Amino acid sequence: MADRTGTWWRRRAAVREHVAQVATLEQQVARLERRGQDLERILRGLGEGVLAVDRAGIVVHANRAAIELLGLDAAGGLGSHMFVVVPDSDVCELLEDVMRGEEPVQSKEVVVERPHGEQVLVINIRPLRAAGSEVDAEPEGAIAVVRDVTELRRLERARRDFFGNVSHELKTPIAAIRGAVETILDDPEMAIDVRVRFLDGARRHTRRLEALVSDLLALARYEGSPRELERTSVDLSVLAREVISASDDLAAGGSVRLEVDQPKGIAAVVRGDEEALRQALSNLVSNAIAHSGEGGVVRIVLERGEGALTVSVVDQGEGIPAEAIERIFERFYRVDTARSRGRGSTGIGLSIVKHVMQAHGGRVEVDSELGRGSTFRLVLPV
Ligand code: ADP
Repeated sequence: MADRTGTWWRRRAAVREHVAQVATLEQQVARLERRGQDLERILRGLGEGVLAVDRAGIVVHANRAAIELLGLDAAGGLGSHMFVVVPDSDVCELLEDVMRGEEPVQSKEVVVERPHGEQVLVINIRPLRAAGSEVDAEPEGAIAVVRDVTELRRLERARRDFFGNVSHELKTPIAAIRGAVETILDDPEMAIDVRVRFLDGARRHTRRLEALVSDLLALARYEGSPRELERTSVDLSVLAREVISASDDLAAGGSVRLEVDQPKGIAAVVRGDEEALRQALSNLVSNAIAHSGEGGVVRIVLERGEGALTVSVVDQGEGIPAEAIERIFERFYRVDTARSRGRGSTGIGLSIVKHVMQAHGGRVEVDSELGRGSTFRLVLPV
């Protein structure tokens, strides 16, 4: 009897232990599932694409970014062989190399054609090893991390182009100044009028250098963060009149008339950086004067619209060819390069205008007709 009771108690204890073990296991499974879901969420939220394959080349994971960047089908090809689902076979070969242990890490940059243009991807491939395994243990698979570097490459190219352009623009006046100085030094007997001519040329090129450097400094300032602006209340009607009177000499040279047109009662006060706005307006006015013919009129027109103040600079000059309109706000772009350079233009003026407006949360617009004139509009939020 006592024996049977003992067995019953032992069995009961064993069942209880078993139930407790099952409960712990269930908790562990739930914890693992939660962890798996967390990991899934993290991978889904990543901007980088993550594609994992096992040793046989079967896709075991592909997050949303990998599906988009590598052009996998919507399900990510889970359970299929990578050669079937990854369109770029080079990527599969790199994954295989890494798994074979031939290369510990592989990196590749690929350019892919997309409907909206080219996309540049950097793909980094590493072996996949179990946690805690030796570094040189045979990989259980491989993982590819894909990053979209299209914007980065575009910025790098823009930076290279910028330095190329700056060096080119600086070289021309420097060579001219050096040429003039050396010619004078080489010929002590040079007639005074010839010497004056050379010195005059050197002075012209020095001014060109000055204009270029000050435009570059302005560009560096306004292209940076809008936080660098010193904002105060600026009355644009006062600013317009100041710019007009400062440009009078320039206009008189080409006998161009300057006017400000402001309907009565229009409040023209905005929050902004006075110096930056002065520079933007003054660049537009000097362009309008430079491209106006003898007897032309340049008008600054102030208008109030829905939540914005518009300052237009209107000329009746030569206008801009339709195919150039899109490019005139680019740095160093000039419509008629040889003629503009002769005028001492740098090709940076409109680029400064664009950045000043962007820094103020506004924009610059242009309408132009060849032979009839141009209208540049500064639209500022109020
Ligand atoms: P630039 O220093 O050459 O004036 P901008 O960036 O100010 O440089 O202007 C770029 C080009 O746009 C100029 O070379 C010129 O050909 C054209 N442009 C700008 N404003 C006018 C205008 N009001 N009328 C005609 N062409 C203009």
